[in-house]
Amino acid sequence: MKILIVNAGSSSLKYQVIDMADESTLAKGLIERIGIAGSKLKQTVGEKQYTVELPMKDHIEASKQMISALTHAEHGALKSMDEISAVGHRVVQGGETFTASTLIDDACLNAIKENIPLAPLHNPANLMGIQACLKVMPDKPMVAVFDTSFHQTMPPQAYLYGVPYAYYERLRVRRYGFHGTSHRYIANQGAAFLGKDVKDLRIITCHLGNGSSICAVDHGKSVDTSMGLTPLEGVLMGTRSGTVDPAALQFIMNTDGINIDEMLEILNKKSGLLGVSGVSSDMRDVESAALEGNKQAQIALNMLVRGIKKYIAGYAAIMGGVDVVIFTAGIGENSIELREAVLSDMSFMGIELDKEKNKVRGKDAEISAAGSKVKLLVIPTN
Ligand code: ADP
Repeated sequence: MKILIVNAGSSSLKYQVIDMADESTLAKGLIERIGIAGSKLKQTVGEKQYTVELPMKDHIEASKQMISALTHAEHGALKSMDEISAVGHRVVQGGETFTASTLIDDACLNAIKENIPLAPLHNPANLMGIQACLKVMPDKPMVAVFDTSFHQTMPPQAYLYGVPYAYYERLRVRRYGFHGTSHRYIANQGAAFLGKDVKDLRIITCHLGNGSSICAVDHGKSVDTSMGLTPLEGVLMGTRSGTVDPAALQFIMNTDGINIDEMLEILNKKSGLLGVSGVSSDMRDVESAALEGNKQAQIALNMLVRGIKKYIAGYAAIMGGVDVVIFTAGIGENSIELREAVLSDMSFMGIELDKEKNKVRGKDAEISAAGSKVKLLVIPTN
């Protein structure tokens, strides 16, 4: 069975074709600048690269171009779209409606629409992608896969904020969490790597990329996670601040005369590693600057390390212990230095790193020392 996976943004559309027989990727594509000048499709099939530059006024046009690229006689991966059995769509916010991936029908589309206020930038774009695919491939079964659904098992003490309960009842203000497909995948993959069942383990998954989140996976279920109503909460990220005292924002806004939209733009786009280091949002640049003696870069790295340590210790506390800690995504899979900094001085809770084994990038590996009570793993996300 071959599956087409679509991840639609407001002006972009990423796609992959997966052969489920061996879960190999047959084709991978990125369409950018949809609806603006310079629309472009780039597709990779094995070693073959294919680029098309032509106007694509909307997601329907982009979906048509995706299909013609996938079925292109010379550069494609498929003889015809008949080979595709189903289409999977990434949807960011499933709210409290969706606790699992769901076959797309009118009720599902309406529920995704109803959740737009909770993800005003992402859900409308995801919907455009779904609607475009429904238009150009009306016969294919389509499934929505939500970033949030894995976290719907969190108890109220994890998902509620300390604000009047009426905001939860009236507006559904609560922690939703994100990166759910990644946390679920690496928890299961990590358990399998150890030859164990995820239902027998207390796991802390650290997804550390441009956006970062940490999750407590207790016997296979998410019981807490660091991102909140939006992906802004939690640890320091590439350009996102992570958690900040909300009253600090009032102080900045009043002093500098900026409004809440401008403030949120700063918190989302100009903060985090970029904002603190003043160097870059990219971990590699910040690490090099820190090595060269840049003080702000060193502080930014120390803040990130400290934040991750606090979540690991905190989540161990709420699960009554931890059996496995897993690192994934760009930073988690690749930054040997970051993992060493986070996992050092944690022997008080049974965490012992093997510094030699830790010298690994981008592949499934155990990095804990022989006697470590807690297993430490690197598991690339998928
Ligand atoms: P996204 O959240 O956009 O998917 P990724 O998971 O690709 O992001 O992670 C991007 C981050 O991973 C960047 O900060 C990048 O610097 C970092 N990264 C990638 N390779 C390395 C490396 N070798 N060492 C340190 N950081 C790395």
